[in-house]
Amino acid sequence: MKCLITGGAGFIGSHLSEALLKKGNLVTIIDDLSTGRLENVEHLRKEKNFSYYIDTIMNHVLMAELVGKCDVIFHLAAAVGVKYVIDHPLETILTNVGGTEIVLSLANEYGNKKVVIASTSEVYGKDRPGKRIFSENDDRVLGPTSINRWGYSCTKALDEFLALAYFKEKKLPVVIVRFFNTCGPRQTGRYGMVVPRFIKQALDGEPITIYGDGKQTRCFTDVSDAVRAVIGLVCESRAIGEALNIGNPHNKITINALAKVIKRITGSKSAIQHIPYEKAYEKGFEDMRHRQPDISKLKSITNFSPRIGIAGMLERIVKDFKQKNKLAQSS
Ligand code: UDP
Repeated sequence: MKCLITGGAGFIGSHLSEALLKKGNLVTIIDDLSTGRLENVEHLRKEKNFSYYIDTIMNHVLMAELVGKCDVIFHLAAAVGVKYVIDHPLETILTNVGGTEIVLSLANEYGNKKVVIASTSEVYGKDRPGKRIFSENDDRVLGPTSINRWGYSCTKALDEFLALAYFKEKKLPVVIVRFFNTCGPRQTGRYGMVVPRFIKQALDGEPITIYGDGKQTRCFTDVSDAVRAVIGLVCESRAIGEALNIGNPHNKITINALAKVIKRITGSKSAIQHIPYEKAYEKGFEDMRHRQPDISKLKSITNFSPRIGIAGMLERIVKDFKQKNKLAQSS
């Protein structure tokens, strides 16, 4: 298969590139390095089946050439990370909506190429009493437009609407994947993600900063599980025209417990600090208390079950951080 991955130098994109190459596919990535990093794919650059373009997906001419040459597009390029989208609301809307429109219209124009659209559990919005587990057809509950986080949620929902509209009206084969808190080596905490932030803080001996009371829970998914699910779905005709949750419901943990586990694994003496949301993000910031994926739809289509537990996932990430620190010190 000739695969085009937008955002291929990002955290998930780089792991997806690696997995697709291992299976013998041809992989081309395009990434503007806004949040992705060339070092994420450094080890792939010597592979004969791998090519990369450092450019924006808004470059219509280049995108037309790349879409024209591929069989399937994995559209991962987007503004992501709670902190990033709060700090860059305009770029978030323009990239996430405009970029997806370009990808879908070109996929349609160049012979109805299959498109996998990366979406997010953020589309569900807020949890509410009795509602912590989210299934694909659940209602979405969002806060006011003054809170940028909900703008991000809307951009990804609009991407989904757009993809489904192309499927309905143009028969474009689209698959929408909603990632739930994916983690793994190469993820940076710079844009807000809690796991790499806590690990870096723990290794640097800095306070581990928990936002709010820390009793909120998340289900963390190892990137290898997430990538396996995506690859499983791309080969399944039953996934076409569908949105699917990708996550690991077994890895549910409070943020307080996460901080303690990371402290233990790293052997860190860091203090644990609680910080109000308004100080961490912006005035009026709203967090969801609990968010757990229902993955029965994914399981029914692909037989998927997540393999990596939280301890194994964290140990692998800590190892990656330590290796990078060592390299940085020796250079
Ligand atoms: N969080 C935290 N400290 C940080 C970053 C995040 O306590 O330095 C919290 C955040 O408020 C949320 C949870 O960890 O409750 C997961 O945050 P993340 O941004 O990783 O993912 P999301 O909020 O999208 O689930």
